[in-house]
Amino acid sequence: MKKGDIILCSAICVFSALLALLFLTFKNNGKTLIVKVDNKPLYEYSLGTDREIELEHNTAVIKDGEVYMLEADCKNQICVRTGKISKRGECIVCLPNRVILEIK
Ligand SMILES: [Zn+2]
Repeated sequence: MKKGDIILCSAICVFSALLALLFLTFKNNGKTLIVKVDNKPLYEYSLGTDREIELEHNTAVIKDGEVYMLEADCKNQICVRTGKISKRGECIVCLPNRVILEIK
C-alpha cells in the first residue's frame, strides 16, 4: 500500500465513524412519527416540528414532541380517546379507518 492509500483509507474510516456517530445521535434525539394507512407506512414526520396531519378520515397533530388524534370520523373514537403519545413504540390505532400513528 502506498502512503496515499493509507491516508485515504483512514480518512474513509474516520468519516464513516463520524457518520455512524451522527446517525446514533440523531436516532437518540429525534423521534419520528410514522403514519400508516392500510398497514403501509405512508408518511414520516419528525416530532421536533409542530404540525397538523390531515388524512382522509383522521386529523393527527404533532405538538411539543407529542402526538394525538385531533379528529376522526370513526364511530368508536378510540383513537381520539387514546390521548397523547410521545414514547418510542407507542401508537394510536384507528381500526375502522385502518390508520396507525406510531412513534419510532
Ligand atoms: Zn378512530
